[in-house]
Amino acid sequence: GQAAMIITNLQTNRLTCPMGFELSRPLLSWTAAEARGRFPAKTRIQVASAPEEAAVLFDTGLLDTPHDPATGRILSGPDNLGWPLPMTLSPRTRYFWRVYVLDDAGDAAWSDWTWFETAKAPGEAWAGRMIASPFGPETHPVFHHVFRADRPVRQARLYCLGLGEYEAYLNGEKLGDEVLMPGFHAYDSYLQYQTLSLTPRTGENTLSFLLGDGWYKGRYGLKQSAPRYGEDYALIAELRLLYADGTEEVIGTDETWLVTPGPVVFDGIYDGETFDARLIGQGETRHAVPSPLTTALLTPRLSPCLRVQEERKAVRVPGEEQIFDLGQNMAGWVSFVCDAPAGTVITLRFAEMLRDGTLYRENLRKAACTFTYISDGQKRLVRPHFTYFGFRYVSVEGYELAEDQLTGCVIYSDMRPMGRIETGNEKINRLFDNVLWSQKGNFLDVPTDCPQRDERMGWTGDIQVFSDTALFNMDCTAFLSKYMHDLLADQRSLGGSVPCVSPMTNYRLGGVAAWGDAVTVVPWTAYLHSGDAEILRLSLPGMLDWVDWIHAQTEADHTGDLWTASPQLGDWLALDGRSVHGGTDRGLIATGYYYYSAAIAAKAARIVGDTANAARMEALAGRICRAFLTEYFTPTGRIAVETQTACVLTRYLGLIPEGAEHRVDETLRRLLTEAGMSLETGFVGTPWLLPALTMGGRTDLAYGLLMREEYPSWLYEVNLGATTIWERWNSIEPDGSMNRDGMNSFNHYAYGSVAAWMYRVIGGLSPVEEAPGFRCIRCAPEPDRRLPWAETRLDTGHGLCRVRWQWQGKEVALSVRVPFGCVMRLTLPFTGEEVLLTAGDYAWTLTAPPAPAPGLDTPWRELLAQPETRAAVEKVFPRAIRGIAFQQQMHTMGQLLQSPFAELTREEAARLEAEILRAQQD
Ligand code: BGC
Repeated sequence: GQAAMIITNLQTNRLTCPMGFELSRPLLSWTAAEARGRFPAKTRIQVASAPEEAAVLFDTGLLDTPHDPATGRILSGPDNLGWPLPMTLSPRTRYFWRVYVLDDAGDAAWSDWTWFETAKAPGEAWAGRMIASPFGPETHPVFHHVFRADRPVRQARLYCLGLGEYEAYLNGEKLGDEVLMPGFHAYDSYLQYQTLSLTPRTGENTLSFLLGDGWYKGRYGLKQSAPRYGEDYALIAELRLLYADGTEEVIGTDETWLVTPGPVVFDGIYDGETFDARLIGQGETRHAVPSPLTTALLTPRLSPCLRVQEERKAVRVPGEEQIFDLGQNMAGWVSFVCDAPAGTVITLRFAEMLRDGTLYRENLRKAACTFTYISDGQKRLVRPHFTYFGFRYVSVEGYELAEDQLTGCVIYSDMRPMGRIETGNEKINRLFDNVLWSQKGNFLDVPTDCPQRDERMGWTGDIQVFSDTALFNMDCTAFLSKYMHDLLADQRSLGGSVPCVSPMTNYRLGGVAAWGDAVTVVPWTAYLHSGDAEILRLSLPGMLDWVDWIHAQTEADHTGDLWTASPQLGDWLALDGRSVHGGTDRGLIATGYYYYSAAIAAKAARIVGDTANAARMEALAGRICRAFLTEYFTPTGRIAVETQTACVLTRYLGLIPEGAEHRVDETLRRLLTEAGMSLETGFVGTPWLLPALTMGGRTDLAYGLLMREEYPSWLYEVNLGATTIWERWNSIEPDGSMNRDGMNSFNHYAYGSVAAWMYRVIGGLSPVEEAPGFRCIRCAPEPDRRLPWAETRLDTGHGLCRVRWQWQGKEVALSVRVPFGCVMRLTLPFTGEEVLLTAGDYAWTLTAPPAPAPGLDTPWRELLAQPETRAAVEKVFPRAIRGIAFQQQMHTMGQLLQSPFAELTREEAARLEAEILRAQQD
């Protein structure tokens, strides 16, 4: 028959056409889509030196790919989730590869050729050496070198690194579209060099490197007076010219290279940049000097590329000041066409918010966030080079700009978009987009807390709580693997404790629960989403060290298996405390996370084959669990710490005495009710709040919190015009004023972790431990009447998985698409019936049980607002209409009934409930 299959998404180490990346363990992955069959029957992979059959170097031949029908797992043969290429690779070589898949229906296809290119060999000597600027650390240098290519060049490559940051140019043209190279990593542990492609002309060529300060040597980090990663600019470059005649020429940086002070006169991650175009090509030229840096730390890059991924139009904000609105809180910069006379000073200031028609910049704290450009009279497209801003608004002074002269340039790391949720509720859709935008705004090589104020750091707690959401939204496995390199290196330098911020820069705080646990949670979550055990292999030593480090603290403090004596951040920014640390006992949170990390380390060790450590961690997790239950539960199963977060954490982690789950559920429900059906949770409790309610069978309450619009809630922010997730529930106070605490970001993804619940419960989609990477997909959507419909799309490594449901009166139309090569364990809504599905499209019409009648859980104000229920209340409980004592302080009808001031008998209360019910059904 006619083949319908197409093979797409060919990646090497989860990167598309990686050039010069660390590839010591190349892992190939691909997606077979649109196939007629359900599973791959045979697969073949070819690797070649050129994109043609005749150049094939390695061929697997046609290999069987049998699978396990229960999980879809490929039992042998190439697995499209990741197949380790068993080939010894040459350095500095481009390899082409392609895949052929034949499915169980006889449908088959070859993919197109793709490629990866290796970097220099490990330990290979560099043709050049590290050079430095003779102008010292205060002057931004441009390094340059003229070379001649006297014969036609077939291929040219540049292996290079500039510190702090750099851009490379050939004959005045920027090489590649990457920005902010080499990105941000733990420069004290490893230095990532880049591989750039270039096309020299025959004759004379000029290579030049523009250098900036960036994260490496600029003002950055929480301890800004402490030493930076480095003081001096440095550059290493190795240029390899392969001539058409087959000969090669290698040119390296040395003291013959020249240096001229450049046009960038100032840059800082926080403060911005000053670019004086009048200095271009001016200034004294001197020879480079040797740098004390060696090549010892140089490694091929791991960081996915940072690029301008999207461009946005600017709109002029009406008013006297020249302010432009990019329509979206974002990270990056702006570019503009400048035709100003020489000497014109143009100043751009950035802000997330407007107040009274002017920029609100107090929340930037000590970050100047200013870009100054001084024109040389030439028409140019102007942009910054070595900084970025977190902003929605930009004011321009010193030059009149038309709207279409200014463009918003959105910068984030390369990541493949994966998930998307759309519903029949516009506010929920905006909330979802806000989460996505906070991810884009904070995935700039390092997962940061925020992109605007004088922080922008890789806070471990923030990514710990957000990683599940991040991995649903985009394939950021490569991005997070690189982050694990930073984190593990920093952890080694702290002796097992995990830092609160990585790369640490000069801020060495560590050993804090829910922050340090990033070392277990992030790789575990990435493994579940990607199916790639390599990240577990990489991280296991760090996982074990972290758990052992906590254990050592408990021993030293004689706290048994409880972790209760260390300083903790607690339930950061929760509303139920008297400080930023929230109201939940910090020892409970720390011990809960200690257990969680031990349990993850045990599972990771099992998967990696380290059975001794697996057993050791299992035993430890068991002991922590017993100690936890003894400390935090009464003998009859009542939770001893009554906060929302305590209930949520014990529920989510299963740290509850057997059979007492309903008591925790009941306590959580009561605490929510007493708080007026609103959340009070912080960084620790919020991500698991909705999941805990779902686990306790109260998805209805979870929807209620998700869709709540009053303060505090997610939609409260949306109603106030948020386009990203705020750091605080009260970043803008209910009275409209800005939060007065200095720490107030409007682009902070931590509370965006709610999107993971949306994927897992609205869409119903979850990865499964037995067959991660969505090979086996759990699907258990729970439609709620408050949402007319929802469609969840997940572009998994196997192709599109889609779940859509829509209310049609009392029925729900449900449809799902299962991708090729996968199985889905679907739990049908309402009936709970379980179905095992393979690739294909399916549809059901399901009858929903009658809507739960509003009863005593309903706010009394709501019951009194509806004429039918109001009449019922009037009949049995007229005092509630006139008002009983302290009625305003109570929320639900149930609370009113429980009040001694209600003066109702049990029988009257029961009759009232029945009347309310009847009123609803009529
Ligand atoms: C950051 C947070 C971080 C917290 C921990 C804040 O300044 O912005 O997101 O996790 O500090 O102390």
